[in-house]
Amino acid sequence: MSLTIADGVKQLQTAGAKITSQRIAIMKALEGRSDHPSAEQLYYELKPLCPKLSIATVYNTVQLLAQASLVRTLSIDDRKINFDPSTEPHGHFLCKECRKIIDIPLPHEKANGLAVHDDIASVDHTEVFHYGACAECAEKSIQNSA
Ligand SMILES: [Zn+2]
Ligand SMILES: [Zn+2]
Repeated sequence: MSLTIADGVKQLQTAGAKITSQRIAIMKALEGRSDHPSAEQLYYELKPLCPKLSIATVYNTVQLLAQASLVRTLSIDDRKINFDPSTEPHGHFLCKECRKIIDIPLPHEKANGLAVHDDIASVDHTEVFHYGACAECAEKSIQNSA
């Protein structure tokens, strides 16, 4: 599953939030995206289109979408929260050099393995975070040390 404007509008209405052009712009900016933008990033991208936009509006709109599992909020980066419009189970890799976040497939046994633990009835959410250097940054550091 991933965020669509139609689902997003429905969720905002359910949550009693007003459907404003700013909120539509935020959803449009998130839809189909795979670079996991932060609130600040969305804010700076949308500011030219929506001069009255505030970071608080970006946050609370995404929060409302996250409540309905239309957007995932990632805490992989200790410096900021990143948003992910893809809610399919998948893990993430963070490059410690350039802070790029890359989607990685999640081994199915992870979640299922937990479910057979005696003290756990069911698992509905799994976060897998990996940290390291991306190919681009690894390449650069080889060049720099040569
Ligand atoms: Zn990198
Ligand atoms: Zn992702």
